[in-house]
Amino acid sequence: MTQWGFVIDISKCIGCYCCFTACKDEYWDNDYSSYTAAQPKFGQFWMNIARNERGKYPYVKVAYMPVPCMQCEDAPCIKAARDGAVYRRPDGIVVIDPQKAIGQKQLLEPEACPYGAIFWNEEKNLPQKCTFCVHRLEKGEIPRCVQACPSECLVFGDLDDPESDVSKLLKSSKAEVFHPEWKAKPRVYYTDLYKMTKHFIAGAVIYGDSDECAEGVTATLIANGKSARTTTNNYGNFEFDGLDAGKYSVKLECAGYAPKTLDVDLKTDGYLGDIILAKA
Ligand code: SF4
Ligand code: SF4
Ligand code: SF4
Repeated sequence: MTQWGFVIDISKCIGCYCCFTACKDEYWDNDYSSYTAAQPKFGQFWMNIARNERGKYPYVKVAYMPVPCMQCEDAPCIKAARDGAVYRRPDGIVVIDPQKAIGQKQLLEPEACPYGAIFWNEEKNLPQKCTFCVHRLEKGEIPRCVQACPSECLVFGDLDDPESDVSKLLKSSKAEVFHPEWKAKPRVYYTDLYKMTKHFIAGAVIYGDSDECAEGVTATLIANGKSARTTTNNYGNFEFDGLDAGKYSVKLECAGYAPKTLDVDLKTDGYLGDIILAKA
């Protein structure tokens, strides 16, 4: 049985909003009978683009995360709806019935959708959301947002087919769902989710005697008896990403120079700035 799902690569998303615009074009003024009423011209972000800015000048990193309805397997919106106004199809798509759901504003509460994927249509007195473009799937077409994405970061397909691109990506990558602790069992997976949820420690190493960028310095990150290692690039930069908040040590070692250890109490992203290595 087909089970539709997404694997979204956060590293490939450039935040261009082509997916959002395509979704708006597909649904604004277009009614798809039993699946959804038309989307209003303004408001409603069925494909929302969350943005995360990390670090501070001169070391800033930005990531974008496309957020459609997660088509949760254990969807709180279904439980929050009255009269069966939200239901799950056999292919996994969660539908808000555009007739039965009229007036059901409780579906906008965080308890009904912790992902904030449901929007209110004031004119129609109706909650609405991403449908996974079910009307297009039934014609053998891919969702409009997938078609419009210039960086191919939205991979869509049948999670039940081991040969589909989504299944292969799930096997080969460390794809994960957003907020698994909410236990809604989303059908949307992300790769490189750490860019939205974790922190980094970075720095720039300089040779004290020559004032040159220190390339090839070994940087070792130590925390709780575990360690990770990298080397500085030709600008003298090193970086450890995907870290939780906590206490870390960074040890810098280079032949001919005195080793240096820095203690970091990481609360948010940590750029350590210029670090000078003195001659041994
Ligand atoms: S993301 Fe929200 S609206 Fe979509 S299925 Fe899950 S709980 Fe329902
Ligand atoms: S799958 Fe369709 S409805 Fe959902 S965000 Fe993409 S274009 Fe919009
Ligand atoms: S179209 Fe693709 S790259 Fe652009 S914001 Fe959407 S998902 Fe990201």
